[in-house]
Amino acid sequence: MNVVYVASEVFPFFKTGGLADVMYSLPRKMSRIGHDVSVIMPKYSQISQIYTRKMEHVISVEYSGRVFNIYKIVEGYVIYYFVENKELFERSQVYGCDDEDIQFSVFCEIVLKFLRKIQLKADIIHCNDWQTGLLPFFLKKRYILSDEFFANMKTVFTIHNLMYQGKFSKTSLHRLGYDVEGDGLNFMRIGMEYADIVTTVSKTYAEEIKYPYFSEGLEDMTTSKKIYGVLNGIDVIYFNPERNSSIYVNYNIYTRKDKAKNKMFLQQEMKLPETAETPVISMITRLVEGKGMDLVRYNIEELLKDPVQIIILGSGDKQYEEFFWNLEKKYPSKFKIKLGYDPVLANKIYAGSDMFLMPSRYEPCGLSQMIAMKFGTIPIVRETGGLKDTVTSYNKYTGEGNGFTFANFNADDMLYTLRRAERYYFNDKGVWDKLIERNMNLDFSWIRSAREYEKLYWIAKGDKVLKADLA
Ligand code: ADP
Repeated sequence: MNVVYVASEVFPFFKTGGLADVMYSLPRKMSRIGHDVSVIMPKYSQISQIYTRKMEHVISVEYSGRVFNIYKIVEGYVIYYFVENKELFERSQVYGCDDEDIQFSVFCEIVLKFLRKIQLKADIIHCNDWQTGLLPFFLKKRYILSDEFFANMKTVFTIHNLMYQGKFSKTSLHRLGYDVEGDGLNFMRIGMEYADIVTTVSKTYAEEIKYPYFSEGLEDMTTSKKIYGVLNGIDVIYFNPERNSSIYVNYNIYTRKDKAKNKMFLQQEMKLPETAETPVISMITRLVEGKGMDLVRYNIEELLKDPVQIIILGSGDKQYEEFFWNLEKKYPSKFKIKLGYDPVLANKIYAGSDMFLMPSRYEPCGLSQMIAMKFGTIPIVRETGGLKDTVTSYNKYTGEGNGFTFANFNADDMLYTLRRAERYYFNDKGVWDKLIERNMNLDFSWIRSAREYEKLYWIAKGDKVLKADLA
């Protein structure tokens, strides 16, 4: 298949969040499994010279009195195209300008016109998040109707973050001159409505967003349309305790005893007592409400009564930063907070901890728990979104499960679950080691995700057998 990815950010060219990482990994893997892959994004002034120097001019496209130069970089087997227009995309900030509706609707138009001009007959155009939401609409309502070239193109639309929908007022409708009905424009809604396939980043989240608590006002769309869930992967080469160069001592599933050395060095670096028998519980997270920080704040002092050490690496809301700052002063030999974004320390914490806590209120996919698991750190999570899809609670009767989970968004349930984990940690080393082994064995590779998207692409192209399979 010929697959074209369209997104507002792609790592390493420009990144603000997880979308960029997905746009880095998924296209590469898709080409690895045999498809022709291109990726299209705007050419922002924020893209480093390292890349702009490598760009080659491909062609220019004219639209509504503007000229758009298209550049390309070929990396591996993926072709990256960049849409240049100084007025629209070379700004001091990438997101949040008051003409974002124009910036990104024009971007979508240019993508289609560009494909036409270079005769790139995509089988699938895979759009991502609201910035690309108008593309499926343009394709279905205009381009396909008037031009045979587009006849067989299908669209997939992936929701990475339902919070940001690209909502614009009625004036926007007029100024864009679009024939969409309604009081205003919601790019995300339009993407969901007109795409052939809609996906989000975990199966559980795909179900949860049918309910108002999670749906951010789009439940009419989320309930009326089939939404598939495809879990993101992680970079299993980088997040491999055997190879990762930033951890203290490398280990693999057979030498997992060496995880203990990482714990000792971590305790040293954190200025915590170096006691092998004390469980280290960690969090690496944005300090925001959605990550369950209120639950942690409510019960952490109670938890600190247990023989445990707790390390939090994160940054975010001042209220939490201050709270943890004060807590560290009160319990310097049991609790450490590291404020800021520090990927190297993050790896050391993943490797050196026994338990990884993620009590999120909602979690579309969640990467941290998967990274922790690859490092043999036992996840303790709330059953929501991608957390529910990756962690199952240990069941002493069947021996199944790989972590410890709780269902209600409740601080006492969280504490109870942590203590349940502690009991196994202290009293049943056999079970604990089994859990470590099990977690390190799990497959969170992008290849697995790419295979699932591949099936959805075939379904978009009309494959009925696969469709029945996945129903
Ligand atoms: P979200 O995207 O909602 O923040 P995820 O779990 O999907 O949560 O991804 C978070 C990623 O960011 C993980 O790779 C995690 O290790 C990393 N991360 C979060 N906070 C920090 C931090 N303070 N320092 C280093 N890495 C961090």
